[in-house]
Amino acid sequence: MSEKSCPQCGEELKKCLIQQNYSLIICPNEGCCYPFNEREAIDNIVYTKDAEILNAAKRRLEEEEQQKR
Ligand SMILES: [Zn+2]
Repeated sequence: MSEKSCPQCGEELKKCLIQQNYSLIICPNEGCCYPFNEREAIDNIVYTKDAEILNAAKRRLEEEEQQKR
């Protein structure tokens, strides 16, 4: 899977889990509202596999562990 960049600011897009198995592709740049300023934000909702969700959750836990030290 290739990384996509924001069509509005060029920032690398991130997936934000909104529901079980569904992610919304958003721009992490705080100065940019993509895709909320697009009419068809629904196009940015993608099906996300369990394995991908678990990996993301695991990564987040590891990051939290590191911050405690
Ligand atoms: Zn952007």
